Amino acid sequence: MTVIRGATTIARDEKREIQEAVEELLLQIETKNNLKREEILSIVFSSTSDIHSYYPAKAAREAGFAGSSLFSAMEPEIDGSLSLCIRVMLFVERNLKAQAVYLRGAKILRKDLSQKINIALDGPSGSGKSTVAKRLAKEYDILYLDTGAMYRACALKVIDADIDVNYEQKICELMKNIDLSIRYEKGSQITLLDGVDVSEKIRQPHVSMAASTVSKWACVRMKMVEKQREIAKKMSCVLDGRDIGTVVLPNADFKFFLTASPEVRAKRRYEELTAKGFSVNYDEIKTEIIQRDVQDSTRKNSPLKQADDAVLVDSSDLTIEEVIAVIKRKMQEKI
Ligand code: C5P
Repeated sequence: MTVIRGATTIARDEKREIQEAVEELLLQIETKNNLKREEILSIVFSSTSDIHSYYPAKAAREAGFAGSSLFSAMEPEIDGSLSLCIRVMLFVERNLKAQAVYLRGAKILRKDLSQKINIALDGPSGSGKSTVAKRLAKEYDILYLDTGAMYRACALKVIDADIDVNYEQKICELMKNIDLSIRYEKGSQITLLDGVDVSEKIRQPHVSMAASTVSKWACVRMKMVEKQREIAKKMSCVLDGRDIGTVVLPNADFKFFLTASPEVRAKRRYEELTAKGFSVNYDEIKTEIIQRDVQDSTRKNSPLKQADDAVLVDSSDLTIEEVIAVIKRKMQEKI
C-alpha cells in the first residue's frame, strides 16, 4: 500500500473555494501519480480550525471520488501554524513511488519538492513594489520580473518610431514585430529592445507617462501578458505590476496590493530619480503620479485594481523593513 500526501490553501472560508481547492488537489495527485480512481482506498482530510464552511470529504465526493472511503478531521488550533489550509492523505492499494502535491499557499511548505511559487505584487507607481519584490526574490531565491519595464520598453519603441501614444492602430502594427526580451545578469533584470539594453533609458520620466498611455491598448497588453505568463510558468518568481493578481496570474500563490499616499509615493520617486542623476521637480512628479493613477485605474483593459484575494499593505507610514516583515508574516500565515 502507498500513502500519498498533499496540501493546499484557500483564500476565504467559503464552500465554493473549498470545493475548487479540493478538486484541484485531488486531480493533481491523481495525475502526478498516474492513479486509477478505483485503486484509491481511502482519502483522509484535515483542515485548519479556521475552515468551517464545508467538509473537504464532501467536496471530494462531489468531485467524483465517491468510490473511496472519505474522512474529514479538524486540526487543533496551534499558534503560528498554517491558516486556511487543507491537508490530505490518499491510501492507495498499489505500491508506488508517492509524489506529494503541495499547491497554492501550501507550496512553500515543501520547497524540497522544488515546486514553483508565484508572488503577485500590484499597486500604483511609487508604492515600493520593486524594492519589496527585489527583496522577496532574494530571500526566497526566486526570480523578480518587473512587468512595468516591459510596458516602458513598448512605450520607448512607440516614441522612437515617432508614433502618437494614442494612435492605437499604428501602435498595434508596431507591436506585431516588437523584439522585446528579458535577461538576467547577476540577478538583475535587463530589458532588451531590438537587442539593445534599454534598462536605464526606460526610466526617464517622459517614458513613464507614455508607458501608462501605451499600456491601455489591448494589443499591447495581450502581447506582454503572454510573455509574463510564459516566464511565470517556467519558474518561481515574484512579479510586480498593476494586473498581476487580477489578470496575469489570477491563481498566484500569494497576492499583495501595495499602496501609499500620493505624497509619500512622489517623495520616493523624487529621491529615486535624483539619486539616478535625473533633474526633477517634486510637484511635477506628484502631479504625474496622480495622473498615472487615474489613467491606470480607469482604463478599460486590465485597470489597476486590488484582486479580491490580495492582501492590502499601506506603506505610507512603514519603512521598507516593516513592509517586508508584514508581507513575510502574511505569507507564513498562509503556510
Ligand atoms: O511600474 P512602472 O511605473 O514601471 O510601470 C509603468 C507603467 O506601465 C504604469 O504606469 C502602467 O500604466 C503600466 N503597467 C501596466 N501593467 C503592469 C505594469 C505596468 O499597465 N503590469
